[in-house]
Parts: sequence; structure tokens; C-alpha cells
Amino acid sequence: MNNNVNYGAYEAVIGLEVHAELKTKTKIFCSCKTDFGAPPNTQCCPVCAGLPGALPVLNEKVIDLAVLASLALNCEINGFCIHDRKNYFYPDLPKAYQISQLDLPVAENGYIDITSDKVEKRIGIERIHIEEDAGKLVHSEGATLIDLNRCGVPLIEIVSKPDMRTAAEAAAYLEKLRSILLFTGVSDCKMNEGSLRCDVNVSIRKKGDTGFGIRTEIKNINSVAYTAKAIDYEIKRQIELVEGGMAVERETRRYDEKKGITTLMRKKESAEDYRYFTDPDLPPFSISEERISRIRSSMPILPDERAKGFTKLFGLAEGDAKRLASSPDTADYFEAAAAMTDYPKILASLMLCELPVISADEDQALSIPHRNIADLCNLQGSGKINSSVSKSVLREMLETCENPHIIVKEKGLMQIDDPEIILSAVKKVFAENQKAISDYQNGKTAAAKSLVGRVMGATGGRANPTTVARLVEDELKKIN
Ligand code: ADP
Ligand code: MG
Ligand code: ZN
Repeated sequence: MNNNVNYGAYEAVIGLEVHAELKTKTKIFCSCKTDFGAPPNTQCCPVCAGLPGALPVLNEKVIDLAVLASLALNCEINGFCIHDRKNYFYPDLPKAYQISQLDLPVAENGYIDITSDKVEKRIGIERIHIEEDAGKLVHSEGATLIDLNRCGVPLIEIVSKPDMRTAAEAAAYLEKLRSILLFTGVSDCKMNEGSLRCDVNVSIRKKGDTGFGIRTEIKNINSVAYTAKAIDYEIKRQIELVEGGMAVERETRRYDEKKGITTLMRKKESAEDYRYFTDPDLPPFSISEERISRIRSSMPILPDERAKGFTKLFGLAEGDAKRLASSPDTADYFEAAAAMTDYPKILASLMLCELPVISADEDQALSIPHRNIADLCNLQGSGKINSSVSKSVLREMLETCENPHIIVKEKGLMQIDDPEIILSAVKKVFAENQKAISDYQNGKTAAAKSLVGRVMGATGGRANPTTVARLVEDELKKIN
């Protein structure tokens, strides 16, 4: 940050172009497989390699998935669509054109509702079109190798309207889009495997202005966190340029994750540079009303709806419900385990607050059998163990796959409720901690907390914390 720059005088305008790989078994214009991680060039054919005379045939599943995504994103479907060629030369594109859609995409005019900074906002979607992916260049010791496996893998490109104003809104949009695509099963959305990729368009303007400024585009960012960081950096860079008396130029940039900066890739090409024209090898296609209704009727419950169900059925706070409903895996897991316990709020808190701390690997966390985590909630909810013991049992469950009843029994972790036993522990702690008591008498009220902590410690963390607090208070009163 530069102290002479008035960053607060500007606001950013942000639009996202997201590419999602569709979950089809075969490619968009041939029958080659789309499996991730296959040995290089084992999933390609003359169509993928762009050999002369090879002709593309549209995979109908691609249309079904594109329509499903479009409906989930509240778009209008175009009944009549065409394929266009986008021409450019690059070694990962053997045909020297990409089959995409320009004027008549599958769908237009949709929206996603997001929540950012506790404020709800509707972000417009300009269009959704289908296109094929390019191959991959693999750079290795002094050579660049080309893997054509990804050529012709089907994608949808989802283009937002320039409706976002902050990096946080863009992150919320991306998260929401991802969860909708996951729930519909349209894409597996693995940003680290490239099945969800994001290009970010950013411009700035003076607060209060309504026109748009010149934008830059940052290509191919591969995580939500980097997307937000790249946007923040780019906003700052543009403001400093303008405040320094210079102009933002229309260009394509890349985000350098290590340095946390964006750098110039190329001066931006415009649509004319691509010499778009209708693909003569592929007929136009129409999407019938029957087909649209059939797909609409197969629509699964989407994340917003799912979250509402969680608040209603289980009394969860809205934010917790939304987080649990953000991926089908967590939503299904929560729902199955919640059906087995009377304490769904404890379950939500274990899943949202404790499990992520214990294990960064979500798949591993969700491998705990529903029965076991539900039993743990019951033990805690019914007061048989306290919440701090519950955390350590959860950790143990993850390591040993054991049922919590067995862990609690074997380790003797049952909560101590008997006031007599607790009182004797309190008395012992008081006798051994005269200093804390005199601190308390001298007005250091925090000393009471430390006494409670010591009693908890003396009972191996097993005493009922409410009873301990009450008895410590009683004893202190007696002394005073
Ligand atoms: P292109 O084909 O050159 O990428 P598009 O018109 O398809 O251009 O727009 C791409 C993205 O840029 C969209 O997500 C749109 O919302 C966004 N966008 C358009 N104008 C601006 C602007 N001035 N500032 C920020 N984003 C913008
Ligand atoms: Mg673009
Ligand atoms: Zn092929």
C-alpha cells in the first residue's frame, strides 16, 4: 500500500468467466475417454488430433449436462444453437481452431444468489456455452511435450455479468457456482485437476461513477483463495496506475502465486482476432421443450434449498446450514448422521468446527461411520461426556475408527457429575493454590477462571464444567 494513494475513492468492477469440465464418459465430438491422469496421448483419435478428413459428431450427453447447469443457474435456454470456430494457433490445439459458440449459445440471462459479508446479492449470468478443451503442454528438461488427452474434453463456459465489486463477492460467487455444479453432478469441479478454471476480469472506477473502466483479464486461476488474492492485487495495481497519472490497458495477465502479483501475458486480443465463423462440419442443433422439461424434472435439490431444509428440520443457524449444504458430500453426511441423533446442533458444530481442525482431509473426516459420530453427539448431548472430552474422543475416532462408547469406556472418560467428588477436587485445588485465591480477593476476578481450569485438570477434564464453575464460585464466596 502506498500512503499517498486514496484507495477508498475507487470501486472495482469484476466479471468471471468460469470453465467447468463436464462429467461425461467420452469427449464432446468423438468417443475417446475423458479419464483424468491417463498416460499421455492414450485417449485420442484422428478427431482429437485434428487429422484431415476426421469429422466431429456431437455427444448428446453434453447438451443434457449444459441444459441442466443452465436451468440450475436460472438461465433461459436457446431452442436453436450453433457451433462456431474460434481460430488461433497454439501447439496444444492441433486443428488451430476451437469449436465453441459465439452468437447462439446454449443459454443466456441467468443469475446466482450469493451471500458476502452477511449481505445477499444477485449476480447476473450473461451466457453459458459449450466448447471443447485444448491439449496440455508439458514442459520438461529442455523440451516441451504435447499431451492431446484433454483435446475435445467437453466444457461449459459460464460468463458472469460484471456485477461483483469485491474479491469477497467474487469468491462467494465462485463457491456458490461450484456447489451448484457439484449438486447437479454436471462437473466434479476439481480446481486442482483443472476441471474448474477461472478467468477474472477486473476494472476500477471512481466511486459514484456508473460507466465501466478499461479491464484486464487474469487467466486460469486454480483456486478460490488465489482468485480473491489476484483480484485484490489487481485492484490495487490499477488504482496506483491511475493515481500515478497513467492509464489501465486492456491486457491479459497471469497470477504468480508465489509472489502474489499479476504479470503481463499479452496485450488483449479482441473477438475479431479470432475470425469466428460457423463450423461447417457440425449442423446447428435444437433443444426441444420436451427435452428441457425432462431435464428440469430430474433436477436434484440445490444447495440453497438444502440449507433451508437444515434450518427448518434441525434448527441450525442459517450460516451453519449453508456451510453444511455447500457440497453434496457434507450435506449427505450430515443428513444421514443427523437422523441418528437427537443433537443435530452438536453434530453441526463437530463437523464445522472440530473436524476441520483435526483433519485437513475432508474425505478422511467423512469416512467416520454415521453411527459413530451420532453416538458421540448422543454422549455429549446427554451429558455423559463434556465437550472437551468429546473433542478428544473425536480425534481418537478418526485415528482408530473405534465407536465412541468403547473409547469412553476403555479410557474412563465418563463425565463426573457427583457434586461430592467435584467438591473434594475443588477443596484440594483451593488448598494448593493460595496465591490464586489471594489474587481473587485482591480483585483479580480472572483468578476464578484459573481455579476452574485447575479443577478440570485435576479431574482429567472429566468433571461437569457447570458444576465446577458453580462450586468454585460458592467456595470463593465463603472465603470472602
Ligand atoms: P471477452 O470475450 O473479451 O472475454 P466478454 O464480453 O465475454 O469479453 O466479457 C468477459 C467478462 O468480462 C464477463 O464476465 C464480463 O462480465 C466481464 N466484463 C465486461 N466488462 C467489464 C469491465 N469493464 N470490468 C470488469 N469486467 C468486465
Ligand atoms: Mg474472455
Ligand atoms: Zn478422440
